[in-house]
Amino acid sequence: YIILLYIINNLVSVISTNLTPWKNTSFPYETLHVEIATKLSQDPISIKTVSSDFGKLIQETPTAVFHPSTISDIARLIKASYTASTPFKIAARGRGHSVGGQAMAKDGVVVEMSSLVDGGIRVCGCESLGFYADVSGEKFWIDVLKTTIEHGLAPVSWTDYLYLSVGGTLSNAGISGQSFLHGPQISNVLEMDVITGKGDFMTCSKTINSELFYGVLGGLGQFGIITRARIVLQKAPTRVKWVRMIYEDFATFTKDQVKEMVQAFIDTEMKGSLIMKKSPANNWRSSFFSIHDEAKVNSLATKHGIIYSLEVVKYYDDFSIKTIDEELDEMFNELSFKTGFIFKKDVTFVDFLNRVRTEEVKLRSEGFWDIDHHPWLNLFVPKSHILEFNQRVFVDIIKKESKSSGPFLVYPMNRKRWDYKTSAVICDEDVDIFYTVGLLHSARNVEDGKILDDQNKRILMLCDELGIKVKQYLPQYYKTKEEWMKHFGSKWSVFEERKAKYDPKMILSPGQNIFNFS
Ligand code: FAD
Repeated sequence: YIILLYIINNLVSVISTNLTPWKNTSFPYETLHVEIATKLSQDPISIKTVSSDFGKLIQETPTAVFHPSTISDIARLIKASYTASTPFKIAARGRGHSVGGQAMAKDGVVVEMSSLVDGGIRVCGCESLGFYADVSGEKFWIDVLKTTIEHGLAPVSWTDYLYLSVGGTLSNAGISGQSFLHGPQISNVLEMDVITGKGDFMTCSKTINSELFYGVLGGLGQFGIITRARIVLQKAPTRVKWVRMIYEDFATFTKDQVKEMVQAFIDTEMKGSLIMKKSPANNWRSSFFSIHDEAKVNSLATKHGIIYSLEVVKYYDDFSIKTIDEELDEMFNELSFKTGFIFKKDVTFVDFLNRVRTEEVKLRSEGFWDIDHHPWLNLFVPKSHILEFNQRVFVDIIKKESKSSGPFLVYPMNRKRWDYKTSAVICDEDVDIFYTVGLLHSARNVEDGKILDDQNKRILMLCDELGIKVKQYLPQYYKTKEEWMKHFGSKWSVFEERKAKYDPKMILSPGQNIFNFS
């Protein structure tokens, strides 16, 4: 009898340790509903996955990973933290494609949004709202595209890469070549369901719970977890004309970008990038050109060290097929790119939007992409300083030091398309245009990653010294409250008030280091 009791006792202890392996830590397991406890995991593979991100520069280990099946599970988890004597930190993880630990939760819980099984994508339309899609927060933009295109519809604003979660990009802004015309993705949301830092489920829009709505958009995950977003849709084109034009001179290049911006029609996209003298072997923008054209462009880049590529994309379908080339020629007549350096492609709308995936698959097969470190720097630069930025950063640092092959993006944004009430931060300068700059480095090892990370910090310091009032997009280099206050500027007090209202115990998205310094 004693032996049997001993065995049962041991068995119970083993089972309970496996169910609640955090029992010996300070984790408040006693406040967790059994349904929550069974969805928390300390499996080493899950922990390792969420302790890193696309940047591969930062590592933070959580106590557990949460695999919710339903949004009620998420609400219960947050409530458990909110009511615990010592609340634990919680970070939603869309795809973990941040580069500075933003989706991590040191000693807390990371919510793997992809585990949700009850969400979906529903395409609807009504007279007052037009066409829209109700999308579960964990869905990737590629899923949104695949579903909406079946109805002949598509969102109006995108990111370059579509394997990012809706909740993740709406927590930042979501920008690409359509932003100058339609605004970032956060300007094209009608309504959201959010679970706040108190564990409350709330529906919000411009008119219902508007404070939460504006707070969450661009809110860096600080006020709640987005479980549904209502995204604006429009009629999708079938094909696109995709054109790149090369410039030797930055001033002419930016002047033409602005010209494009002003005269663009509703169905146009525009971006821009730098091409350096080194052939971009591991650059996901590299395979636009044919081998012959690439040699031609590279030889010009070698001659100058740096040249600029203006990219214009025009949508078309069966109705405009006869006139599209004429329209484009008219548009290009106005521009001052280098004679003979215009390159055209004609692809499907879906292939164009999903272009980075094609490159990703190729780079993965060559051993790049996943193993690389990504010390990225994304900035918004005031229009008044963009020429100086070109000289002091692109030419004097990026070109001269030649530490990476990018991609390096530079293209204008239209302030009028950004809603000031959202949490997103753009340049202070009160003119309509500002530029987005993306230094999207890849490094093969930790040492090179560190060199580029240091270069990013130097660039930020230099801008400070020169009085170029840049703002970080996807911010990751702020270390103090003062730096965050400077970043948010006039929006800081509202941001702080919203935090006190919706996440008073500062539970959510600790990896952003806004209210919890690591
Ligand atoms: P995660 O990294 O998982 O999370 C980011 C932040 O959002 C974290 O703080 C997290 O806690 C929070 N979060 C995640 N899900 C939710 C949710 N449901 N509710 C509330 N908060 C949440 N950005 C652009 O704007 N334009 C681009 O063209 C672009 N291209 C990119 C290309 C690549 C290859 C990569 C790696 C990134 C790119 N990005 C781009 C940046 C990207 O938008 C951000 O890094 C975004 O956060 C990634 O989404 P994610 O789902 O991986 O978010």
